[in-house]
Amino acid sequence: MSDCIFCRIADGEIQGLRVCEDEKTLAFMDIAKDVDGHVLVIPKKHCKNILDCDPETLHAVMDTVQRVSLHLTGKCGYDGVNLLNASGESAGQSVPHFHIHVIPRKRNDQLDAWPEFEGAKEDITDVFNRIHMGES
Ligand code: 5GP
Ligand code: ZN
Repeated sequence: MSDCIFCRIADGEIQGLRVCEDEKTLAFMDIAKDVDGHVLVIPKKHCKNILDCDPETLHAVMDTVQRVSLHLTGKCGYDGVNLLNASGESAGQSVPHFHIHVIPRKRNDQLDAWPEFEGAKEDITDVFNRIHMGES
């Protein structure tokens, strides 16, 4: 038995409200009760986050994220979605199984789904010089 809660939900060991699924991915309701329609999309195969997810699994997750988003906006009366992900404890990840939060939005719903940052501290060009990747 896995000690990963999302693996256990994916396996059906723990009940989840399954919005949709396919061979590689599952979308289910987040239990947070913070926003109506808050859905999580996960790979059925365990990986921790974007940093260790193999490309095939990642593509499958993003396909399902788009499918859920199109369903919410096309069939459920929503106008848009916010996609949120925390990869790594420093980023605020609390469950160490890769997941994308899909937050459905309505015009004028007054939700604030975008953090208010304190403001950059370094010169943008200095940061660019440190992180730019060149051509691949
Ligand atoms: P994170 O902070 O890692 O980005 O998000 C973890 C999310 O998982 C939270 O929104 C939390 O509500 C959700 N979550 C944690 N445990 C469970 C659970 O047992 N079932 C479901 N459906 N969601 C969970
Ligand atoms: Zn897992």
